[in-house]
Amino acid sequence: MTEKKEIFEEMNRELLAFLDNSPTSFHAVENMKSMLEEAGFQRLLEGKRWKLKRGEGYYVTRNDSSLIAFRIPKEDFAGFQIMAGHSDSPALKIKDNAEIFVEKKYVKLNVEKYGGLLCAPWLDRPLSVAGRVVVRTPDGVASRLVNVDRDLLIIPNLAIHMNRKANEGYEFNAQKDMLPLFGGEDAKDGFIKMIAGEAGVEPDEILDTDLFLYNRMKGTVLGMNREFIAAPRLDDLQCVFASLKGFLAAEPGASVAVHCVLDNEEVGSGTKQGADSTFLRDVLHRINSAAGRGQEEYLMALASSFMVSADNAHSIHPNQPDKADPTNRPYMNEGIVIKYSANQKYTTDAVSGAVFKAVCEKAGVPYQVFFNRSDVPGGSTLGNISNSQVALNTVDIGLPQLAMHSCYETAGARDTVYLAETARVFYSSAICGEGNGEYRMIW
Ligand code: ZN
Repeated sequence: MTEKKEIFEEMNRELLAFLDNSPTSFHAVENMKSMLEEAGFQRLLEGKRWKLKRGEGYYVTRNDSSLIAFRIPKEDFAGFQIMAGHSDSPALKIKDNAEIFVEKKYVKLNVEKYGGLLCAPWLDRPLSVAGRVVVRTPDGVASRLVNVDRDLLIIPNLAIHMNRKANEGYEFNAQKDMLPLFGGEDAKDGFIKMIAGEAGVEPDEILDTDLFLYNRMKGTVLGMNREFIAAPRLDDLQCVFASLKGFLAAEPGASVAVHCVLDNEEVGSGTKQGADSTFLRDVLHRINSAAGRGQEEYLMALASSFMVSADNAHSIHPNQPDKADPTNRPYMNEGIVIKYSANQKYTTDAVSGAVFKAVCEKAGVPYQVFFNRSDVPGGSTLGNISNSQVALNTVDIGLPQLAMHSCYETAGARDTVYLAETARVFYSSAICGEGNGEYRMIW
């Protein structure tokens, strides 16, 4: 690949705009739909019959928060080339009856944690609210996206004078410490009215909501030589965006290219639209059936398929370098991270790792390796969970980043291009196997 400065700058501009416009998984899916439709992809509905044509591209969503896009080859296909990431990020979710009136002077909002967030970064910064509301319609219910696009809320810290030990470690109580200030006494009973106004409906038309707090600080490029990017939700929308860019740039290959984005990774993937659901399996089945193929051909196709589970990875931390494995040291801007774990929290094994390295080499993109320290358990991701539904040769990878699960994360300014280019090569290729551990690449 060519390493022109403008390519990296342009990718970061596009990525940061995508992140700014995707405060929740619902918005990320909406933005991907626009990009796919602009590229000529046709929408499918799970509740309608699918008629698929060779050489065409399609997409389908579930719960408006997970999305699978695919392109059918012109010839009969060998298998599926899947790259999967997740649309959600840790956040604070607003509960029903959210308003709490304090001392007859303040209105604050009742929230609960979504996923394993770092609490401290959410304090003392402008926040707002986004998500979806479900409203009554003449013949049922319908969802509306909302994003209150202004600085609206703040979760104030306690002054150090009132907790002299604040810098010696603090245990955050989500029910007490994390509730955002919404307004003064005049704000009382205003929250749902404001949300209704944003959704263009009357307050009593709203039957239910999925609303989250989000950080208002926009993404940026920083460092002496603009080496880094910092933004909310890099985990995992950086991988998701790179996958989509590569998917849209790919030439149709001998296999079905599948760009897969699943919600709820941060809470265990156990929902109807998560990695532990039938969503991916159902879509692959329907692609197979629409091509006039049976169960035997489906299983043969799976043996001739490959999945890249793309979810961000930990870079070496400049202030805490000893937190990482002593011999496998991933750094930002040094390429895609391949993740390994002996107990298979990551799906990578010697075969899938080798196949992915061959793809990176074909793309001319650097790669590096991540292991957890042997004395820390580390995190998990969607690769092995998805394999319990659709078992196929899978590698776990990610882009190196710092401050994972903060509401403002840091990553390398070069790495998004690296993954997009690798994704382009991957989606243009077929990785054909017969289940005997040998793979033949058709580039
Ligand atoms: Zn992640």
